[in-house]
Amino acid sequence: MDVLQLDVSGRPQAWISPREAALLYASDAVAWTLGDAFHVLRGGIQRTTGIQSRIAVHPIVAVRGAVPTRAWRQAPALTNPKLFARDRSVCAYCGGHFHFEELTREHIVPVSRGGHDTWMNCITACRACNGRKGNRVPEEARMSLLYLPYVPNLHEDMILRGRRIFADQMDFLLASVPRSSRLHG
Ligand SMILES: [Zn+2]
Repeated sequence: MDVLQLDVSGRPQAWISPREAALLYASDAVAWTLGDAFHVLRGGIQRTTGIQSRIAVHPIVAVRGAVPTRAWRQAPALTNPKLFARDRSVCAYCGGHFHFEELTREHIVPVSRGGHDTWMNCITACRACNGRKGNRVPEEARMSLLYLPYVPNLHEDMILRGRRIFADQMDFLLASVPRSSRLHG
């Protein structure tokens, strides 16, 4: 299970392993935590006290330090796994639900016609629909979108990137995801 790393103001930064989180605790880099500790890592025996060090790892840890503003303003990187997760693995044209291998990144305005490879111009489509639409815009192909694209915010991006997500982590992230997101659907 991964740990959600935040900056000190509570903005998501990364998913890290419990071991990486333990390094943050050990170097006194953790400002605050959320949720109940779910993992205990045991370290060496202290020579002076004879007590074995132990670090309890929490599902959400905020690290000390300056808040980088640049990452916050950038749109999250577009990848197929995140795109398909945003669109719930549903083809935007036929409405079918498909497995990962059967899905494609469909450019609403084809790249060859000036469309951009961005969250707002990309939608999830099955191979058949993508092939049928070809090098046309939806109107030309007489195909309409069953749902619309949008740019996930940073919190939603962390959900789309996460593999197995704790309830504590999901509650924290979803609280900052707009109601318009499909994750609330
Ligand atoms: Zn389809």
